[in-house]
Amino acid sequence: MGNTIKMVDLHGQYLKIKDQIDQAIQEVIDSSAFINGKQVDAFATELADFTEAKYSVPCANGTDALQIAYQTLGLQPGDEVLMPAFNYVASAEAAALLGLKPVFVDVLEGTFNIDEELIEARITPFTKAIVVVHLFGQSANMEPILKIADRFSLKVIEDNAQSLGSEYYFPDGVRKMTGTMGDIGTHSFFPTKNLGCFGDGGALTTNNEEYALKAAMISRHGQGQKYAYEMIGCNSRLDTIQAAILRVKLRQLKSYLLRRTEAGHIYNHLLKNLHQVTRPVENDFSLHTYNQYVIRISGRNKIKELLREAGVPSMIYYPSPLHLQNAYTYLGYKKGDFPVAEMLCQEVLALPLHTEITPREQEYVVNSLIQSIKSL
Ligand SMILES: *Cc1c(COP(=O)(O)O)cnc(C)c1O
Repeated sequence: MGNTIKMVDLHGQYLKIKDQIDQAIQEVIDSSAFINGKQVDAFATELADFTEAKYSVPCANGTDALQIAYQTLGLQPGDEVLMPAFNYVASAEAAALLGLKPVFVDVLEGTFNIDEELIEARITPFTKAIVVVHLFGQSANMEPILKIADRFSLKVIEDNAQSLGSEYYFPDGVRKMTGTMGDIGTHSFFPTKNLGCFGDGGALTTNNEEYALKAAMISRHGQGQKYAYEMIGCNSRLDTIQAAILRVKLRQLKSYLLRRTEAGHIYNHLLKNLHQVTRPVENDFSLHTYNQYVIRISGRNKIKELLREAGVPSMIYYPSPLHLQNAYTYLGYKKGDFPVAEMLCQEVLALPLHTEITPREQEYVVNSLIQSIKSL
């Protein structure tokens, strides 16, 4: 079984909906409307429905979505943007490209999400926004974060690239989808995300009509009327073929998410008594959709190698925190500034989890992990 376990199984997932996908692609080819075909608008409407946001604006990828979000919110060079140190690079990169200053905040070791108690200490008179990254399929603790943002008049962007379909429960019982609680949510349809297309894709969601119109304009070169440019924009469109694929897959998303959550719980159960492994913490205030199942273990690199020899793939998200990356040394951080992020980068290991994985495969993964730990 070992050599058949995959980190992700996009082909197996495709085969189950092959006819619908092939037909959707063929329709786009037959129409030749490769750019701004009717499927793009249709997908935008369906994505807004799914996320329960008022508006959605498709774009070319999740990194562009962040850049467009910063521009839509009117952030200016020199403005400071708070974001987690343990994170994918996109939110820092898009900020830096616009002359904004990424300011990192350490994270919680249990959930990997931004530590809301450390946010306030990083706020200066230049702080204008906070990017909350819902990592690995789980919502950050939004209620206190939104309160801080409100108190300091900060805009809130939710980077929901890894958590489309996840939910957050406010203390008063109100349930919200991730990506709809701040000013703007950003999404990625990179193939391995909860909703993946067959290439690159992205979107923004918002409940603010002005932001929706502005984001749409920015993504089309800042164009109002044809060849009339109202603001500096970019070229960031979702291809019609990708939109057509996403429409088919969006209809499956609820069942994909159930499969992920179920598989996450199976790992939680199988790993329960393995004291060498720290399982990911699942908060009561959120629905975790397990875009990744990330454990912590000491001797991580060796374990990864032993797992590989047993035919079990695994991945390291992330091997280095953003503040210690060469590209971001200009920000002036040093080792020790974000101890939790730095510790996580040494210990995290993502186990195979995807919509097609079987409980038997998960048992094999865990048994291989147990053997690896024994032979360490
Ligand atoms: C994948 C990802 C992105 C970027 O998405 P792309 O579509 O690859 O540009 C941004 N933020 C996070 C947290 C991600 O995981």
